[in-house]
Amino acid sequence: MTVYCHQCGNALPPTARFCSNCGSAVFGPQPIPGRPLVRPRVGRQIAGVCLALARANGWDVAVVRIITVVGFCVSGGTFGIAYLAGWIGIPEEPFPEVYPPPGTGAYPPHI
Ligand SMILES: [Zn+2]
Repeated sequence: MTVYCHQCGNALPPTARFCSNCGSAVFGPQPIPGRPLVRPRVGRQIAGVCLALARANGWDVAVVRIITVVGFCVSGGTFGIAYLAGWIGIPEEPFPEVYPPPGTGAYPPHI
């Protein structure tokens, strides 16, 4: 993906922060490390909302889960509603084409 300078239109590599032509700062859509927002089928605790958010944003899933549990306790239901919204709104990860035999360490193949 190419990023373009907003000042001069120069094409830049996606990791560029400054234009090599005019030197202005580049505020392009930086690529987000991670994946599309889907609820994984493997590794989830309840519905996979925390795992989905952690993977999509490159966060530590343990931190997300701790924040969620603390949020359940102190928010008076707001986190519960948000979790349910994520459960409903975030699509489930599609099944992989072929399951490898268990114990091969190859599952999930795209991780
Ligand atoms: Zn430029």
